[in-house]
Amino acid sequence: MGLLDGFEKLINEHGSAVILKERIALANDKYSALEVEVNALRSENETLHRDNGKLKETVRVLEEKLSHNNAPFKFDEKTGTFINSADGLRYCAKCKAKNNLSPLKNGSYGWECPVCDSKFSDPERPRSMGVRVSRG
Ligand SMILES: [Zn+2]
Repeated sequence: MGLLDGFEKLINEHGSAVILKERIALANDKYSALEVEVNALRSENETLHRDNGKLKETVRVLEEKLSHNNAPFKFDEKTGTFINSADGLRYCAKCKAKNNLSPLKNGSYGWECPVCDSKFSDPERPRSMGVRVSRG
């Protein structure tokens, strides 16, 4: 190996070492950036996990409240009204949806809401029944 060959080898190796050093520095920078990102995502995940737990608990409490609120009420599909098993009265479904309990009046052909004026027909009740007066 001549002197010039030695120089060339030295220059190449030095060049390679510089490039290698730069690449390692770049990789380290990327690694640091990724570490920061991982920590941020871990923190965000913890927050989301905690929030999810709180929301699940809220849903559970609300579902329990809802089942209690609806407990005495049974929806009557034939008339579209709610029947309260506690007092035996029918309630307006439209008003109940707005958390307003309105007992229905017995109308001429079905049930009538004194609050919102909704009318609920009762298919089991003949149309003339409420109008006809028994004379007998
Ligand atoms: Zn109503």
